This record gives sequence, C-alpha cells and structure tokens, in this order.
Amino acid sequence: MAHVVVVGGGIGGLTASARLAHRGYRVTLVEARTQLGGRIGEVRRDGFRFDTGPTLLMMLDPLERFFADTHRRIEDYLQPVLLNPSYRVFFADGTQFDSSPCIASMVREIGRKISPAEVPGYLRLMADLSAMLNEVVPAFVRRNYRSLADLLSPRQIHLLFKHRLLANLHGRIKHYVSDPRLHMLFTFQTMYLGLSPMQAPWVYGILTYMESGEGVWFPRGGMYAIIRAIERIALEEGVQIRLGEKAQQVIVENGRARGVRLASGEVINADVVVLNTDVPTAYTRLLPPAPQAGRQWRNSCSALVLLIGYDGALPALLHHNVHFSADFQRNLSEIFVQKVVPADPSFYTCLSVRTEPSDAPAGSENLYVLVPVPNLTGEDAGAASEQVLERVLERLAREANLQRERIRFVERITPADWEAMGLWQGAAFGLGHDFFQSTCFRPSNRAPFDEVYFVGASTVPGNGIPMVLISAELLQERLLTETPPLVTKG
Ligand SMILES: Cc1cc2nc3c(=O)[nH]c(=O)nc-3n(C[C@H](O)[C@H](O)[C@H](O)COP(=O)(O)OP(=O)(O)OC[C@H]3O[C@@H](n4cnc5c(N)ncnc54)[C@H](O)[C@@H]3O)c2cc1C
Repeated sequence: MAHVVVVGGGIGGLTASARLAHRGYRVTLVEARTQLGGRIGEVRRDGFRFDTGPTLLMMLDPLERFFADTHRRIEDYLQPVLLNPSYRVFFADGTQFDSSPCIASMVREIGRKISPAEVPGYLRLMADLSAMLNEVVPAFVRRNYRSLADLLSPRQIHLLFKHRLLANLHGRIKHYVSDPRLHMLFTFQTMYLGLSPMQAPWVYGILTYMESGEGVWFPRGGMYAIIRAIERIALEEGVQIRLGEKAQQVIVENGRARGVRLASGEVINADVVVLNTDVPTAYTRLLPPAPQAGRQWRNSCSALVLLIGYDGALPALLHHNVHFSADFQRNLSEIFVQKVVPADPSFYTCLSVRTEPSDAPAGSENLYVLVPVPNLTGEDAGAASEQVLERVLERLAREANLQRERIRFVERITPADWEAMGLWQGAAFGLGHDFFQSTCFRPSNRAPFDEVYFVGASTVPGNGIPMVLISAELLQERLLTETPPLVTKG
C-alpha cells in the first residue's frame, strides 16, 4: 500500500488525508502546531469562543462533495445554517444596508436604502454572475492543468470573451449600478482573497455571486466544527495524525521523494509526500533547490485580527458586519500600493454568538474584528495594532454604542503570527490572485520532483475554504492516475 506523508494539517492537508485514506492509501499527517486546522483556528478564553481565521462559509458544494466522495452524510457530521441577512454593511455616510441571499429582500433594501432605479441593474448583475459562475468553475477552476494548452481550448477562449473574464472588476461593475455604495458592496468580496477590487479581474465577481446568490453559511459549533468533522472522518479512515511535529526537509533521492525528516531528527519514509504548506515557503525551506524557489511571487495582503471579550450587548451588530472606510479607494491604496497601515481602515466584525449562543457568556459578545493591512513587505500592522484598535473602537462606539469599559480582554493575531504559521511575508491570504498566479500559472499541485505534490491555498485553484477543498479533489484525481494506492514505485 503506498504510504503518503502529508505535511500540514490545514483544511487542505486534512481533507486530502481523509480522501486519500478513503481511496486506499496509508496516510500519515504531520502538523507543526498542537492544533489542527491551520488558518482555521479556535481560541477559548473566560467562557468566550472565537474562530481565529475564516468566519464565512460560502459555496457549500465542495464540502458536500467531500462528504459524498467519502460516502458519508453531511448531516451526520456538520449542521450548516444559512444566515439571513447575510451581513450588515455600515457605510461612512450613516447608511446601514442588510445584504441577503433572498432576491426579494435585496430588491426592497436597494429600493429603500439606495434607489429603486438601481434595482434592474442589480438583477442583471446577479443573472450575469450566476451564468459566469456556472461556466467558469468547471472550465477553469475544477481542473488539473498540465500545460498552457489546457487554458487555451476553444471552449475556454470562448468563455473568456463571452464573460469578459479579464476586464477590470471595479470598472465593469459601473455598467450595472451607479451608486458608489453599491460599487463597494458588489466588489469588496475580492478582499476575501487579499486582492484589491481595484486590481481584480471581472472573473472574481463570482465571489459576489457566491455570497449574494448562494448565501453565507455558518456551521453549528463554529467554523472550527468543519475541522472537527473532517478530522473525525480522517481518523475513521485510519489516518495517523501527529501533532506538534514540524517537518524540516523533504528527502528527495534521484529526483524522487523518499520521505520527510522532522525537526526532531526522525525520518518518516514515504512513497508520496503531499505538502500543505505555503508554496513559496516549501520551495525555500523544505525542498531541494529548484527554479521555482527563485520565482518572484506576488503575495496577498495580510490581516490584523482582534478578538474582544465584551461584557454587554451590541444589538446594532449582526452575526457578520462590514464597516467601510469614508474613502474606500484611499484605504485600498494604503494597503496594496503604499503598503502602510490604513489611517481610516475598513474592517469586518463577526459575533458568532448571534447564531451560536454558547460562544459567549450570557449577556456578553464574542467580538471578532478583521482589519485588512499590508503584508510584511510593508508597514508592520502588529507594531501599529494599538492605533488600529483605537480607530475600530471609535467607529464601533458610534455605530454600535460600544463602551470601552465593558471590554474584558483583547487578543491580537498580527501578520507576524501568520508568518510564524509558515505564511510567506505574513500574507494571511497567501499567494496573490493576479492573472499570472491563477489557473495554469498558479503553482501546480505537482512539484518538479517525482511523488511530491501540493494541496492548499497557494496551489490550484486558490485561496478560501471552497477552493482549498477543490484543491484536495484535484490532488486526489492526480494521485490516483500518477501513483495509484496499491502500486509502490521505485
Ligand atoms: C484572517 C483570515 C480570514 C479568512 N476568512 C475566510 C473566510 O471567511 N472564508 C473562507 O473561505 N476563507 C477565509 N480565509 C482563507 C482560508 O482560511 C484559507 O484559504 C484556508 O484555511 C487555507 O487552508 P490551507 O490548508 O491551504 O492552509 P493553512 O490553513 O495555512 O494550513 C497549513 C498548515 O501547515 C502547517 N505547517 C506549515 N509548515 C509546516 C511544517 N514544516 N511541518 C508541519 N506542518 C507545517 C501549518 O501549521 C498549518 O496548520 C481566511 C484566512 C484568514 C487568514
């Protein structure tokens, strides 16, 4: 039986392990930290529970496929709840807008809060994005690229022009709606990839559709419940999980993987090595020299996360909230161009206690704040975290009547913390998503050494939970063809 060693227990490594074990491989997973999940983490303190990374679950299909492919019923492991409204938006001019997966609610909200004249454009936008999503995912996203030719089939070229996939997102949204608040509302979703909407191609409008058209979900028990569910399946399938074991080197002999050397000095022999680590980190720290190590990668921005235990109620806030800066374009330029900590940041807040009452003591709120900031090639947001916290608290005092004396504690996760997790340059969202780091140009899930593969956010198709789950599907498909479970090569 081929032995696969998976390095990294993020959702990518964990899902790949469960999938491969289900298909007959012997799988050992080594994770450097003592908690599984990587960026999907969990903190508990004084009766409060926080998810530390992702808080929005969108596009359920890859998760449902994982359960179906491992012959399980999702409802036996996970209870995703559809949130309606999806989130509340606070614009700096005082407008509050509740975004919803229900078209009727959106039509009413746009008519009441923005203008009835914008409604036809919104409906056209949803129709066009829905058509784009349905064609783009099978043609460009859910596929293993072997060469540039795989990107240039007549069908793909047709879709490229039909949907104008490479047009600028921010420029094109103006063809649908004219109010600047709606421009922000329907483009900011690229920030989930750490990508500026000013620089993103139109194809990333599919994120807007995933959110507005398919809705935002929350699993009972928190986002970390997803990790618990997948871990349970991995264990049921016989995966050996070793926590607190850092891989130091992938052993390659004659161009082929032989195993993994741990920081402890122990060597685990393997027929196949799957790396769930950030790809630039893997090429520079774990693998033998390869041309890819010298590639000029472009990274996403980072995130300053503040976890606030709050003794009191903040009824103006929903489960998810977005707070736009008074000058969103300047805010984006500060993060992505000048690379300085924003003076008036846009930020996102989450109170999972709205859906999961056990996430905070009675009468309290578990306030999660995510502020997009530059990665470590720019100003260090960790050093400026006090100033950022100050801006956030001022704004929440205005919009949600937050009272500072009710704050019990604040925990911070800074770009340096993301870097310590193995994310190159502290880029919380990993490799950037520009054209030349997408589709066949993104690092392949096959390294230039035999039997070394990648899974996760920095390989194909990209960042975000649904994409990482698809990356595990693509890895499985590739491995089953190239190294079947019952054939041990070499
Ligand atoms: C603040 C934040 C908010 C986000 N919000 C959302 C959201 O709302 N919705 C969404 O869909 N996505 C969101 N994302 C993106 C999502 O978290 C990621 O796309 C996804 O979790 C990445 O999973 P992964 O398995 O590729 O990598 P990771 O989660 O980074 O896992 C990699 C693992 O490898 C381990 N590792 C690294 N080096 C070694 C080594 N040498 N030896 C052993 N182990 C090692 C690490 O410890 C880590 O556990 C967010 C990300 C962040 C940071």
